Amino acid sequence: MSNDIKHTEENPLIHHPENDSQYSGLQVNSGVVQPPMVSPYLKRRKRRQLSVNDYVEGILKGNTTVLGQAVTLIESLAPQHQAIAQEVIAKCLPYAGHSRRIGITGVPGAGKSTSIDVFGMHVLERGGKLAVLAIDPSSERSNGSILGDKTRMERLAVHPKAFIRPSPSAGSLGGVARKTRETIMLCEAAGYDTIFVETVGVGQSETAVHSMVDYFLLIQLAGTGDELQGIKRGIMEMADGIVINKADGDNIDRANLAAAQFRNALHLFPLPPSGFVPEVITYSGYYNLNIDKVWDMIDRYFDFVKKNGYFHEKRRQQEKYWMFETINEKLKSHFYNNPEIDAMLKEKEQLVLASRQSSFVAAGDVLHYYFEHLK
Ligand code: GDP
Repeated sequence: MSNDIKHTEENPLIHHPENDSQYSGLQVNSGVVQPPMVSPYLKRRKRRQLSVNDYVEGILKGNTTVLGQAVTLIESLAPQHQAIAQEVIAKCLPYAGHSRRIGITGVPGAGKSTSIDVFGMHVLERGGKLAVLAIDPSSERSNGSILGDKTRMERLAVHPKAFIRPSPSAGSLGGVARKTRETIMLCEAAGYDTIFVETVGVGQSETAVHSMVDYFLLIQLAGTGDELQGIKRGIMEMADGIVINKADGDNIDRANLAAAQFRNALHLFPLPPSGFVPEVITYSGYYNLNIDKVWDMIDRYFDFVKKNGYFHEKRRQQEKYWMFETINEKLKSHFYNNPEIDAMLKEKEQLVLASRQSSFVAAGDVLHYYFEHLK
């Protein structure tokens, strides 16, 4: 075989000095042209922009991908997304409302995620579909919500009839809560008949959750010696039921004691507007003990308030509350997101801090400018 290969355009192998005729060694063959890593036939398809009707149709069919995309629109700050989201919500509203909305709160470590996983499985085993949503106003600071995180609910995360969505992260508590409430509507339209809304029982978020659920469950722990501390009285007053978690092993007696203390404390509160005296039950989320008792308690509540009319009355009041909340939130964001107002506020802030203008005059000036120039 001759080593005398011509260096031509068609034959780029010649670049190798070993292929030169003066070398007597072996000829170096060119490599095979490598195929691209990704098949060129699999062209990256741009996701088709869904129309309002596409969203509505997908949601009503229970398509979780479309539902998830619609929730992303609700959470988006872009005005064009918000506009589509509002249309989608309006069209889904006639199909919403047919679920049990259950708020679940407890301090970090109380066992919310463990319990939601086990409560959720209990609900799913009885048929139906479950959505788990969350309100976590701290999520903006912590860079993403932990509540409602799929990894914390191992069994629900892989269950085909469970839809889990962490808390919307951007914005004020009012904004986050409104988005969660709108997500509830879409989930209901998609056929979810049980909705859990998780929150941390340490701030104001439980008031927001309370305003969007039918039943408010407070998860407590025993054995800390200060059972009634660490949880505000207001939260206890809001609770329709209290459950003492981790009633297992050595902790059972302490859990029972805590339950007795909570029952006593609840006696001191006036009868809630539902007319249903909150019950206290011990259970273990981790060891799956007494879960049916917790659920029987919740069933008893729903039977009771559906019979006495409170269920519908509460929903009507919540509608009213959300009308005002939505107006408040939109007015605030319209005001504070205006660049002229923003600049004016920065200036006024300095004047007020330097005691060169009173707070009333400063506020009056900014509001006057807003009402006169920025309608
Ligand atoms: P969260 O912060 O409220 O969501 O609480 P987690 O569900 O993450 O639970 C906090 C810790 O308590 C974890 O280590 C759980 O394994 C543990 N835990 C949760 N439920 C139980 C229970 O019923 N019994 C016991 N012994 N431990 C539990």
